Formats: sequence, structure tokens, C-alpha cells
Amino acid sequence: MIGISGTSNLFMTGIVAEINIIYSAPNECFGCSACCQFCGEPPFKSIKEIESLPEQLKDELFAHIHAIEYDHIPSRGSKNMPCMWLNIESGLCLHYEHRPKVCRDFVPSGSECLYFINKAARKP
Ligand code: SF4
Ligand code: SF4
Repeated sequence: MIGISGTSNLFMTGIVAEINIIYSAPNECFGCSACCQFCGEPPFKSIKEIESLPEQLKDELFAHIHAIEYDHIPSRGSKNMPCMWLNIESGLCLHYEHRPKVCRDFVPSGSECLYFINKAARKP
């Protein structure tokens, strides 16, 4: 990327992403994984949703939730960390077929997508 004196590359990445989004096709996803960078835990909205997961994933997630609630371990989300299901190297969801409804319903190139791309670009 061409650098501009006094302007951080991350900031420029955010600007370029904004331009890409403005000119993108509706629902176009760039696979940047920005929308998975801050929630910490997979954003399931109900116990029922978690209970429908395969046993191993369900056990891991309940153990994690238990540690947050009863052992007072801070949630990854409270620290703005990437989702625990995100493969950092590939940027892919490790359990894509089991991802929460929130993730399934997320609209690529929508306003929330743009928000997360900008937030990721400005991450310290
Ligand atoms: S932030 Fe938007 S472009 Fe990036 S992976 Fe998520 S939906 Fe796709
Ligand atoms: S569950 Fe998968 S798609 Fe959803 S935020 Fe986590 S890594 Fe991203």
C-alpha cells in the first residue's frame, strides 16, 4: 500500500475499505474477518441455540461460559478480543457450519460491516 506521510497504514486500510464497500456489489464480502475480531465468544443469543451444537462444541462453550460466570474470568468479548472460533491465520470460522444465527444473518457490505472494518483498521 502506498503510504502517506503522517498517516498510518491502518487508517488508510480503513479508508480503502470504505471506498470498496461504497462501490461493492450488494452483499459482497471481502473475507477480511473484521466482523469476527471483537466479539470474543461466538455470539449465540440463547441457551437453546447452544444446545443444538454437537456435543464437543457445546461442552467447550458451556465450560467457557461457566468459567466466566463462576470463576470470574473476564470474557474475551469484554476485552474486545477476536471470537474464539476464528482461525486468526486464515481468517475463517473454525465451525462455520455451526456459527450462530447472528453470524448467518450478518449483512456483508452493510452498515455494521463497514463499522467493523473501520474499527479493525483502527485497532491499536
Ligand atoms: S466485515 Fe464485512 S467484508 Fe469483512 S468478513 Fe465481515 S461481512 Fe465480510
Ligand atoms: S462464530 Fe464464526 S462467524 Fe461468528 S463471530 Fe465467531 S468466527 Fe465469526
